[in-house]
Amino acid sequence: MYDEFIRSLPKTEMHLHIEGALPQELLRKLDPVKYAVPPPSWDDSFRYPNFQAFDEHLLGMVCPWYTSPERYYEAAKLILERLYHEQNVRYVETSFASGVLEFMGVDGPATAEAIKAAAPEGLDVRVFLGIHHNGYNERTGAFIDDCVNWKHLDGVDLHGAETMPMEPWTDLVWKRFNDAGKMTKAHAGEFCGPEFVREVLSRLNVKRIEHGERAAQDPALLKQIKDLGITLDLCPISNVKLGVSNSFADHSLRKIFDAGVSCTINTDDPVCFGNTLFDDYEVMAREGGFKKSELLKIARNGFQAALVDEKRRAPWLAELDAIGATLGENE
Ligand SMILES: [Zn+2]
Repeated sequence: MYDEFIRSLPKTEMHLHIEGALPQELLRKLDPVKYAVPPPSWDDSFRYPNFQAFDEHLLGMVCPWYTSPERYYEAAKLILERLYHEQNVRYVETSFASGVLEFMGVDGPATAEAIKAAAPEGLDVRVFLGIHHNGYNERTGAFIDDCVNWKHLDGVDLHGAETMPMEPWTDLVWKRFNDAGKMTKAHAGEFCGPEFVREVLSRLNVKRIEHGERAAQDPALLKQIKDLGITLDLCPISNVKLGVSNSFADHSLRKIFDAGVSCTINTDDPVCFGNTLFDDYEVMAREGGFKKSELLKIARNGFQAALVDEKRRAPWLAELDAIGATLGENE
């Protein structure tokens, strides 16, 4: 539905795990037999039984690939070129996982640099280090304490199972990034409810929430998020396949959007879900009831939140406004 319109929209991708976006042909390079066809999780009707099953599936597929900055470069090149040329994406925020650096012994600063170097001309890419709730330990502490100084790192993102406690080091690391004027995010409101979203807002002072689907359960929290000017980076297909939402028709994007909260549509981990950014927009039009003007507003939210100066931002917004001007009153 609205295929041509969605393709015509310049878009952002704000919530993309670079490991979780590993292209199929690179998996097939590792094991042509095992990965001859995409996994069953690509079927529309597939549902993961829980987060742990998803996490194990994801890590089992991608960890054997991501063993060096060169491997990150090779994957990022395909991922970013496709976003730019096939999905009309102009701006990307992507994270790489501190756990992969830890277990595969990969160099962090070189990985951030490699991902940026893989961007095609014309695509702006910002890179984040994703750290799990229990990601700080004797092997990772030194590089996590230093990562605010990495030249090519734009910010930090809290990853992993939300149900695990947030340990005290988290407050210190996020404060360091906030004090340095860098972007801070956290995955929240995916599996835990409004109380965890409140906790990351008060303890970490994040400027962006990844998912925030369950923040919609609490109108007062939505108002707080709106007043703080925080953007929620939602991933509808991921949410439905992980059971965060029962369906696209009752996905919280509607409540969040109608509350006037800035929100974006993103893909999360396409290697597991088989989705493209087009698919996530399209399903929210077809099953979620989003009109063309509403999808355009969501694309616009991404560019408004993008970490660029106004000179860079203005032509993107102008392009969207020109498309908006062609829409009828009820479109
Ligand atoms: Zn995510």
